[in-house]
Amino acid sequence: MPTPKYYSSRDQDKNLVSFEDALLKGLAPDGGLYLPEFIPQIDPATWKYAASIADIGVNVLYEWLKDEISLNDLEDIVRDALNFSVPTVKLKDNLYVLELFHGPTLSFKDFGARTMARLMQHFLKKRNEKRIILVATSGDTGSAVADGFAGMDNIKVVLLYPKDKVSEVQERQLVIKRNGVQALAIKGDFDDCQRLVKEAFMDPELAHLPLSSANSINIGRLLPQSLYYLWAAANSKQKENNFCIPSGNLGNLTSAIFASLMGLNVKRFIAAHNSNDFFPKFLNDESEAFDFKSTVSTLSNAMDVGAPSNFERIYSLIPKETLSDWLWSTVVDDDATVKRMKYCYDNYEYIVCPHTAVGLEAVQRYRHETADDTNFINVATASPAKFPEAISQAIWLDPPKDPSLEALKEKEINVIEIKAKLKALKRHLLDL
Ligand SMILES: *Cc1c(COP(=O)(O)O)cnc(C)c1O
Repeated sequence: MPTPKYYSSRDQDKNLVSFEDALLKGLAPDGGLYLPEFIPQIDPATWKYAASIADIGVNVLYEWLKDEISLNDLEDIVRDALNFSVPTVKLKDNLYVLELFHGPTLSFKDFGARTMARLMQHFLKKRNEKRIILVATSGDTGSAVADGFAGMDNIKVVLLYPKDKVSEVQERQLVIKRNGVQALAIKGDFDDCQRLVKEAFMDPELAHLPLSSANSINIGRLLPQSLYYLWAAANSKQKENNFCIPSGNLGNLTSAIFASLMGLNVKRFIAAHNSNDFFPKFLNDESEAFDFKSTVSTLSNAMDVGAPSNFERIYSLIPKETLSDWLWSTVVDDDATVKRMKYCYDNYEYIVCPHTAVGLEAVQRYRHETADDTNFINVATASPAKFPEAISQAIWLDPPKDPSLEALKEKEINVIEIKAKLKALKRHLLDL
């Protein structure tokens, strides 16, 4: 069986490119997102009896990539990228939290970013080429990508983040000086950052630069993110699980959908959103496709996305009727988020970040509405240590300090502030 090739979500003819091309391009030339022509079917034994997520990673990604990379090279990449623990924590019977924040920058973004960085490095070396990675971040992507790519030969990173719209800790993670990385503080919101990245890709004066993207639109991030659903399901020992995914740009949900299309038994997915409510409204029929909104700032700021870019992917992958069957969604505002953080601490002595709390609140609402009490795995997308302000607001305590975050306070920084204008961004890119 050959491995899948990729087409653009905007290409009626479905012209195919290799994984290597889709990975190195990021966004398709027509502005669409790359989708696999088919999803490889994986034997459940591959994950059920695996000893680590890296074992799952090697075997599952090989089924996706074996036409383009040797097992040896893939194994080196995956074991080096996924070298941290991925524990499941029990809150009570049939309610678990999957902690995806034990990587170096303490959010789930490390899975995708670290794997993608190493895959890109591999293919660029083979081609003897260089890249400039442009990445828009609402908080956690930037630090994960900066960390994942730092110091790699052949690759520079320029990261754009909305100034004053990320937490102090997130900002510290973004702006520390790293080899080959430039942080740009944009005077605007996350949608401005994403728009600037898209405009830069389309700009003829930048066409000679080897630009590539690394936000959750890159297919190279989505594949590794599907692995932890398989790992969590294997550890749960249940025939079937429900997963709740705190969502923003819908990359994590797209990865979960990939896992299920590979053969993972999932009863229901919940897409838990904060007040940026485009997707829940779309699913509940209140909103037409592409009726996007501007971004609202919330406590769970890594999910502050008015126009989720992976929506286009999900929408072309799965018809709306099927989506509405698989997926349940709700809108959790800051008030309900803070209450759920407090409830979680009071009842389970477990401290969650605001994103994870949006998920737990959604699980509770789903159970209330459906009386379904089968096993739930709620994805914990970031460490509470990254959000001390929100934690102390909710539970009147400081979260436990994380030594790696404390160490950042001593490090040198490197950041430039610019207007949310393509002209300003271009000046920097042309100077690199
Ligand atoms: C990025 C992020 C999300 C949202 O994930 P998407 O893939 O954009 O839907 C949720 N929580 C945290 C902590 C994040 O960093």
